[in-house]
Amino acid sequence: MRKKFNRSLREQLHIPKVDQFTILVAISGGKDSAVLLNSLYDSIGKIPHVRLVGGCVDEGIAGYRSPSMECARQLCIDLGIEFVTVSYPELGFEEMDKVVVTMGEIGEKKSPCSYCGVFRRQGINHLAKRIGAEVIALGHNLDDMAQTILMNVQNGEVERTLRLAPHTGRPKDGMIPRIVPLRWIPEQEIHLLALFKNLPIHHEECPHGGVALRFRHRENIARMEADIPGTRHSLLRFADGVKALHRGETAFPISDPMPCDRCGEMSSMSICKSCEMKDTLGLTSN
Ligand code: SF4
Repeated sequence: MRKKFNRSLREQLHIPKVDQFTILVAISGGKDSAVLLNSLYDSIGKIPHVRLVGGCVDEGIAGYRSPSMECARQLCIDLGIEFVTVSYPELGFEEMDKVVVTMGEIGEKKSPCSYCGVFRRQGINHLAKRIGAEVIALGHNLDDMAQTILMNVQNGEVERTLRLAPHTGRPKDGMIPRIVPLRWIPEQEIHLLALFKNLPIHHEECPHGGVALRFRHRENIARMEADIPGTRHSLLRFADGVKALHRGETAFPISDPMPCDRCGEMSSMSICKSCEMKDTLGLTSN
């Protein structure tokens, strides 16, 4: 896992020679962000001009956020890393528990996560600006990334796919670029590492998360991965391919159709697929 992490980190993060280079590591008290912070600390935490800061957004979810935030705080104390927080009310939003009640009252059909995700993104941006971060590191793992890509495909969201982190290749003006060095690492591997390293992590699930579409995609991806191993990696490669194509960094030349050398049917290859299959099935007479 360490090798995969470091390779992704090298691809996504280029630390310039400046006096100080600040990275906001978005942490929640969960296993993914704990492993992210721990791994970043191991890899680059000792570089003198690199400043790692753990940042946690308090959504205002009773019984869930307080204990998880304590885990996040404890991890930062253990590693000797600065810890910053911001709450939804501090950002001008209601606490999430109240938002969920209001959603029920107004008959909002969206899942609470639709709102929470937008507010939290603002919270992370707020923290990053507050500490003067050059980069934001997020703990999305392979399973998260595959779920997001599948959701984007289901919703026909090409643009969202193009905007997926990592952003360091081509940062947009005014946007603090985001890196996701755990993106090729399966959730299970991360969980095992968190337990092995005895990191302080919160194990409970958010009480408002169960109705989110993402949870259905989580089950779908897990089932597809069990049936066809490599599905998650393929989804990521697909999204990366779309992004590279959009940036003009790659091209997928489509060859002109030509008649098959054997049967004369039009094909993209000199021997068409059906002749190839006939060969495989031993049906070729000549
Ligand atoms: S599961 Fe949904 S509501 Fe709960 S913290 Fe995550 S985004 Fe917010």
